[in-house]
Amino acid sequence: MKRISILGSTGSIGRQCLRVVDSLPGKFEIIGIAAGNNIELATEQAIKYQPKVVSVSTCEGAKQLREHLAAAKVRFMPEVLCGAEGMERVATHPDADTVLSAAVGVVGLPATYKAIQLGKNLALANKEVLVAAGELVMAEAERQRKAVLPVDSEHNAIHQCLRAGERREVKRLVLTASGGPFRKTPASELKNVTPEQALAHPNWKMGRRITTDSATLMNKGFEVIEARWLFGMRPDQIDVVIHPQSTIHSMVEFVDGSILAQLGPTDMRMPIQYALTYPERVASNGFALDWSSLKSLDFEPVPEGKFPCLTLAMHAMQQGGALPCALNAADEESVAAFLDGRLGFTEISEVIEHVLGRMPGRVLTKMDDVLDADREARRMAQEEIAKRKN
Ligand code: NDP
Repeated sequence: MKRISILGSTGSIGRQCLRVVDSLPGKFEIIGIAAGNNIELATEQAIKYQPKVVSVSTCEGAKQLREHLAAAKVRFMPEVLCGAEGMERVATHPDADTVLSAAVGVVGLPATYKAIQLGKNLALANKEVLVAAGELVMAEAERQRKAVLPVDSEHNAIHQCLRAGERREVKRLVLTASGGPFRKTPASELKNVTPEQALAHPNWKMGRRITTDSATLMNKGFEVIEARWLFGMRPDQIDVVIHPQSTIHSMVEFVDGSILAQLGPTDMRMPIQYALTYPERVASNGFALDWSSLKSLDFEPVPEGKFPCLTLAMHAMQQGGALPCALNAADEESVAAFLDGRLGFTEISEVIEHVLGRMPGRVLTKMDDVLDADREARRMAQEEIAKRKN
C-alpha cells in the first residue's frame, strides 16, 4: 500500500488522482491533502478519505473547513492547517511515502522541494517546480537516490519509452504538441482572442493556467525545460512537433534511428496511475484507445514566429540561471491578468519578453535564490501589466 499526500487535491490533476485511488481499492492510503480556496471540495475529500492532515491556502479557509468537519460530525478530526507551512506539513508528513505535487504555480515549489529533501517518492505534475528550479530539484532527487516520476503526459510517455534503452543510446526526445485552439487561427487574429476562446482546448480538460499556456504554446516551452532536467538532455536534443490528435504523447529517437512512441487516450488518469504505481504496471479497465474513431495521425512543424512564448522559453532555457524562473513568474502573472481581462492575449508574450530582457542573469544556487528571483520577476511583470492597462 502506498501512502500518499496530494498537493492540489481540489484541482484537475488532484481530482483525477483521487479517481485513480478510488479505482484501485487497497492500493493507496491518503495521508494528506493540500488545497487552495475550494473549501467545499476539500471538506468532501477530507470526509471521504480521512487524511491525517489537510491544508488550504488561507487560515480563514482552514477555520471554515474545521467548522464544516465539525458540523458533519466526523469521527476523526484531521490536523487542519493553512498557507505555505500547511502545504509543507502535508508534503512532509512522516506517514506519507509518496507525494503527488499538483498545485498550480511556484506556490507548490517549496513544499515539493522539502518532500524531496526528506526522500519521499515524488509524482510530479506541477511543472513550475522544474521550470523555476529544475537544476536544484533534480540534484536533490539524485542526492536522495529518488526518481522523479513525471505525471505530465509527454514526460510520462518519454519515461515509458526510455525503459527500452540505455540513456547513452538516446539521440533525441520529440515532444508532441496539439497546437492548442489556435493552431489554424492566422497570427494576425490572435490579438483579439478572448479568455473563453483560449480556454477551449481541443483535446484536454485541464486547469485554467495550463490551458491558457497550451493556447500560447508556453506550455510546450515549459515542457522542453522540464524534459531537459528530468531526462538530463541537452537543449538541442529536444524537439517539438505538432500532432493535433494528441494520441502519441511523445517519442524517443535512439542513436540507430529507431523511434519509440507512447500512445494512449487523452486521459490524465493514465499517467497519474503510472507515476503512482511505478515500477509496477497495474491493470486498469478504464483506459482504452478507440481505434475505430482514430482515422489518422498527423504531424506538422511548429509555425515559425506565430507562438513567441515557445521561442522565449527556448531562449530562457539556453540562458539558464534566473531566466527560466523569471519566465514562469512573468507567465503566471500575465496569464492571470489575461484571464481577468487586464491584458490582451498577444500581450502575454510581450510582458514576458519585457521581464526576461531586464532580469539579471545570475546563478540560483539555493531555494531562497529561486524564490527571490520569482518575486523580482513577478514585480516587474505586475508593473508592466499595470502600465499597459493605463
Ligand atoms: P488546477 O487549476 O485545476 O488546480 C490547481 C490546484 O492547486 C488546485 O487544487 C488549487 O486549489 C491548488 N492551489 C492553487 N493555488 C494554491 C495555493 N495558493 N495554495 C495551495 N493550493 C493552491 O490545475 P491543474 O490540476 O490543471 O494543474 C496542476 C499542475 O499540474 C499545474 O502545474 C499544471 O501545469 C500541471 N499539469 C496539469 C495537467 C492537467 O491535465 N491538468 C497536465 C500536466 C501538468 P483550489 O482549487 O482549492 O483553489
